[in-house]
Amino acid sequence: MPESLPQRITVLGATGSIGTSTLDVIARHPERFEAFALTAHVQVDRLFELAVRFAPRYAVLGDPAAAAELRYRLTAHGSRTEVLVGPEALLEVAAHPEVDAVMAAIVGAAGLAPTLAAARAGKRVLLANKEALVLSGRLFMDAVAASGAVLLPIDSEHNAVFQALPHGYARDPQACGVRRVLLTASGGPFRERPVDTLEAVTPEEACAHPNWVMGRKISVDSATMMNKGLEVIEAHWLFGVSARRIEVVIHPQSVIHSLVDYVDGSVLAQLGNPDMRTPIAHALAWPQRIDAGVRPLDLFEIARLTFERPDLTRFPCLALAYRALEAGGAAPAVLNAANEEAVAAFLDRRLGFRRIPEVIAATLERASGLSVDSIEAVMEADARARDLARDEIRLRQG
Ligand code: NAD
Ligand code: MG
Repeated sequence: MPESLPQRITVLGATGSIGTSTLDVIARHPERFEAFALTAHVQVDRLFELAVRFAPRYAVLGDPAAAAELRYRLTAHGSRTEVLVGPEALLEVAAHPEVDAVMAAIVGAAGLAPTLAAARAGKRVLLANKEALVLSGRLFMDAVAASGAVLLPIDSEHNAVFQALPHGYARDPQACGVRRVLLTASGGPFRERPVDTLEAVTPEEACAHPNWVMGRKISVDSATMMNKGLEVIEAHWLFGVSARRIEVVIHPQSVIHSLVDYVDGSVLAQLGNPDMRTPIAHALAWPQRIDAGVRPLDLFEIARLTFERPDLTRFPCLALAYRALEAGGAAPAVLNAANEEAVAAFLDRRLGFRRIPEVIAATLERASGLSVDSIEAVMEADARARDLARDEIRLRQG
């Protein structure tokens, strides 16, 4: 058991899909974990409920009007939770000296600064916000190394790879005999749909994932397979593997969460029902194991596991992500920013589904001379790429 229990946890993005699953696991182990701070963007009702249920020291909202309302309602309810507001407050609860672990589950580039603050403060960082590594993997991994933070992946694939690597793996694939990392992907809702009908897909169809219930942005990313592209970049930074040693395998049942192929021919995989509470519980308790409330895997019920090679004509976003990783520098940050803008426009019905990769490719083409050497430079590159992407979206608006 860790030295001091209960462990105090900050959940960044507590009202989201990962945040909700995290609080479900925390609630199963009140002797081990305590919610120290819960944050959300604008969802007052949901954060109010969570603050009443978990009685955290702090509740943080991004929007001042929403924060004022939450403060009023919590006070009227007799709650002692203190309400803080804005990006500075996120940094404060991520790096607070009394916090043991931070679940980084804000969606998108907005999660970078608080996640980096947790890493710099040497916390146990439970990383769901893959965009933080895509934007500036080097900056982030350097901060982890300098502070001695413990970085544990929550993304199911990376959590699976982490579990299949030897204990104490020090980001040196050669020394550990790792030949390849195989990331599995469900292929999303459009794996079998005729390519020429993809033009007309709606946000509702794109968000209807066959195996996982997730936030809207990551659901669209799964439909385009940009999610897997971002995960290739994430795996590169987490495990120190080059792009050519990371292979994507479509596995529609989502039972094998990823694999590591070793030079002696051994391939180690992690399996389980598709439920994010497994990687969350794994990272919360690591190196111990705790109950996550997940149904045991029934191999007889599953009976068959199948695998396919991804079709890059159907999923051009995957090829764009590999290209950005190989180009290096600011290219992954530009890819991410253009993707966030294009996905938001698609969800808003301003952009067709097939135009998403076009916007990203055109933005990558136009963005040059950007740096990601500091958090300020990252945010500047992100802002510049968003401007270019919005321009490209306007040209294609439907
Ligand atoms: P979600 O949309 O369900 O929740 C996002 C959370 O972030 C919410 O609490 C929201 O209030 C908060 N938020 C949004 N914008 C913000 C802003 N500008 N400032 C502060 N807070 C903000 O998203 P999700 O599906 O839970 O995903 C969260 C992260 O986890 C993403 O980076 C995603 O890629 C990653 N992830 C999710 C899953 C999954 O199963 N949902 C799996 C693997 C990785
Ligand atoms: Mg994943």
